[in-house]
Amino acid sequence: MKILRTKEAVNSELSILKNNQISIGFVPTMGALHDGHLDLIKKAKLYSDYVVVSIFINPTQFNNAEDFAKYPQTLDKDMELLDKTGVDYLFLPELEEIYPNKPRLKMLFEGLDNTLEGEFRPGHFSGVGIVVAKLLNIVKPHIAFFGQKDLQQVAIIRQLVADLSMDVKIISLPTVREGSGLALSSRNMRLSEKEKEKALIIIHSLSFGKSELLSGKDWLSTREEIKEKFTVQDIKLEYFELVNSHTMDKLEKIDHTIPSSICIAAYIGKVRLIDNITVTED
Ligand code: AMP
Repeated sequence: MKILRTKEAVNSELSILKNNQISIGFVPTMGALHDGHLDLIKKAKLYSDYVVVSIFINPTQFNNAEDFAKYPQTLDKDMELLDKTGVDYLFLPELEEIYPNKPRLKMLFEGLDNTLEGEFRPGHFSGVGIVVAKLLNIVKPHIAFFGQKDLQQVAIIRQLVADLSMDVKIISLPTVREGSGLALSSRNMRLSEKEKEKALIIIHSLSFGKSELLSGKDWLSTREEIKEKFTVQDIKLEYFELVNSHTMDKLEKIDHTIPSSICIAAYIGKVRLIDNITVTED
């Protein structure tokens, strides 16, 4: 695996490949890699000739200083994993490479960014949009891979690519989970064993919500029941919402003609976790 640290290095390596009709698959990450990331990389290998992974902890998407300061970093282990998985290039830029200047640009994704994560993490999706646009401009891949674990992020990136007429195909892949059902996340490294057990309330609530909806139960009372469970266990629940999986519009009842998902964000101790489950497919 070759490590590229600058835009110029990426450009000179990849332009030769692109000129020879070799397809490039790209998986952007913030490191602290787990099987969810590796699944994206394996798919990228399947769909493209060469695979580029980036590791960059993007400060502009953090709206909480502690979350940024404590974001897990396991670079040596990550590089070993990437090498073993057969990644061709790791783009590993320093902060100044991506942000030589503080961007004045702010991105708004009308209708997509004012609920869920957008509501509780002001500015988050502007930061995501800017960094993804920068990374796609630098790597210029044919296909880029993202996880449905960050469902709203996928919707925003699809919009970004469409609105800026970027010539890249976006593929999103299902969430990889531990055997217990806990969604893999770099932030899980900050959980104690006890907290990991406590965190199962997240997937249990999503599964419960889905089965209640599919058996015809009323959504608003199901949501109240879940909120009550979190209150009783003294776990901070930020949101538990049924939404249109593409537009992120909140729904008040199940509609089998609309693709829908339940999305959740909750604090297990000091760690904020998000997850979602598909209720009705496309
Ligand atoms: P991150 O490093 O957390 O920014 O994530 C990099 C990419 O991996 C994003 O597209 C995430 O949606 C995706 N990802 C994170 N966790 C998972 C998971 N458990 N399963 C599948 N993809 C994931």
